[in-house]
Amino acid sequence: GSTLEIKDLHVEIEGEEILKGVNLTINGGEFHAVMGPNGTGKSTLASAIMGHPKYEVTKGQVLLDGEDVLEMEVDERAQAGLFLAMQYPSEISGVTNSDFLRSSINAQREEGDEIPLMQFIKEMDATMDSLEIDKNMAQRYLNEGFSGGEKKRNEILQLMMLKPAIGVLDEIDSGLDIDALKVVSQGINQMRDDKFGCLIITHYQRLLDYITPDHVHVMMQGRVVKSGGPELAHRLEAEGYDWIKEELGIDD
Ligand code: ADP
Ligand code: MG
Ligand code: MG
Repeated sequence: GSTLEIKDLHVEIEGEEILKGVNLTINGGEFHAVMGPNGTGKSTLASAIMGHPKYEVTKGQVLLDGEDVLEMEVDERAQAGLFLAMQYPSEISGVTNSDFLRSSINAQREEGDEIPLMQFIKEMDATMDSLEIDKNMAQRYLNEGFSGGEKKRNEILQLMMLKPAIGVLDEIDSGLDIDALKVVSQGINQMRDDKFGCLIITHYQRLLDYITPDHVHVMMQGRVVKSGGPELAHRLEAEGYDWIKEELGIDD
């Protein structure tokens, strides 16, 4: 498996420092959850890893198997094996979902080694079935008019088809009803493999009832302030974040 190392990462948005030294290491085979109150920089972390132009890294490193991710173009990051599911996935007009998925898969493969069309269709059909995605979604334009739940399912379809080394899932649970949440979680759990590491960002503990993380991290005010096992998520659900603030002498 691969290793994603985030070292002392500092990120600014429009001159304001949002991340103030984040340290995290995700190895293949591990599921890490990052939790934290709203506005603490969780989405900023995801966007910075994937190279969103609005997020300026002022200090620190992101390394994938020792390679400097921050030096890579956005598409190079995907080719290197990083996958980002966005909290607010964008619409791309004029490209069908199926074409987008197939070209994304082929972009990761060597020239001349493109996925055979029939194999692609078979895999896509089976994966769509497992995620209970309506078949007509394949021929719709990417994210255009997709409901919140359809977008989330579709992102997990992409994840399962692309089989990245490291997945970063930002609030994949937001806007999902409980049935959709179960289906999406099952899909993510099916990805469990030595070759797949995952960073699951969530505001709510609820998702972690279905996906058991190996490590749980709490982010506050732009830093990871506490790490533990799954029990940490349960304590957060029961007691909220105040006890951590008290423990660390943070007030906001
Ligand atoms: P979280 O995901 O933990 O809720 P975010 O990373 O979305 O937090 O936001 C962290 C801080 O950065 C917030 O104060 C938010 O207002 C600010 N922020 C996030 N995105 C932008 C942006 N595109 N422009 C300006 N400020 C932003
Ligand atoms: Mg938020
Ligand atoms: Mg967020």
